[in-house]
Amino acid sequence: MKHGADSAGHVPLGAGGEFDIVRAMLERWGPLATGIGDDAALVQLPGIQLVVSTDTSVEDVHFRTAWLTHREIGYRATAAALSDLAAMAAMPIGVFLALTLPGADVAQAGEIADGVGECLAAADARVLGGDVSRGGSLSLTLTVMGTTSHPLTRGGARPGDRLYVTGRLGGPAAALREFQAGRVPAPVFRDRFCHPVPRLKESRWLADHGARAAIDISDGLVADARHLAAASRAMLHVSGEKIPLCDSVSLEDALAGGEEYELLLACPDALDAAAFEREFDLALTEIGDVSGEGEPGVEVTVDGRRVESPAGYDHFEE
Ligand SMILES: [Mg+2]
Repeated sequence: MKHGADSAGHVPLGAGGEFDIVRAMLERWGPLATGIGDDAALVQLPGIQLVVSTDTSVEDVHFRTAWLTHREIGYRATAAALSDLAAMAAMPIGVFLALTLPGADVAQAGEIADGVGECLAAADARVLGGDVSRGGSLSLTLTVMGTTSHPLTRGGARPGDRLYVTGRLGGPAAALREFQAGRVPAPVFRDRFCHPVPRLKESRWLADHGARAAIDISDGLVADARHLAAASRAMLHVSGEKIPLCDSVSLEDALAGGEEYELLLACPDALDAAAFEREFDLALTEIGDVSGEGEPGVEVTVDGRRVESPAGYDHFEE
C-alpha cells in the first residue's frame, strides 16, 4: 500500500471539481477500485513493479490547433503523459496512443505521429499499441508504462522535509496569456508551453539521492503542492521569494500557472543542487519545507508575509 493511503488503498485527493467527480466515482466502485490518487498506479507483479498512468489532451481544453502544429500537439500530449512517470521516478517502457480524429485533422495524423515519436525517442520509450477513432474534436489519450524499484509518491512527505522544485517556473503561463490575447509568445515562453520536457532521468537521480515524495506540476505549483499536502497529510510552507522564475514572469504566473511539467519534491536531507545542475543543466531550488502543524494545506509567504495562494486549473470549476 502506498504511503498515506486510506483503508481502501486510495491516496487522499486535493480539493477541486475534477476531484469531486473522482471521489463520487470511487464511492460507487467501492472495493472495485484500489490505490487511486497518485500520479501513476503501482502494480506489483512477480519480480517487477510496473508504473502505469493515462493522460488525455483535448482540443480547446489543453491546446488549440491555432497555437500549436500537429507535431507539437503529438509531442506535448506524450510529454504530459510521461511526466506522470517522472513524478513516480519510473523508467519508461512504452505507451499506448488512443487518437480521436475529426475529419479536418485526418491528413495531419502523420505529423501527430512524428511529434509522439520525437518525445518517445528522447525518453527512450516505444509505442506498444493504440486505437484510432473518428470523433468531434481532436483528442490524444496516452497510457504510459514504466518500471521502478524505488518509487516516489505524493504521500511520502514528512514534517521537517525540505521542498525543492526543478527548473524555472512561469513560462507556460506567460505563453498562454499571449496566445489567449491573439499574440505569438516570445520564443522562450512558447517553447516552455509547446515543448515541455518530462523530467524522467532527473527524478530517478532525485529518488536515488534521498527524495521521498514528488508530484509533477501540471495544474500549477500551489495546486499541485495542495495535492502533495493532502496525500502526505502535511502542511507545506512555500517561500515565494525563493521560487526560481523564468525571466520577466510574475510570481503569480509561477504560483498558479499549470503545464510546467517540472517536479515538486520533498526530501529529508539537503540535496546537492550544484551536482544536479551539472548533471542535467537544470535548476534545482529549495523553496520551502514541510511542517506537522495544522490541517493539510499550503501556505505561501513572501519575505515572511503570508500571501493569498492562487487556485490552479480546475476543469470543472463552477
Ligand atoms: Mg501528475
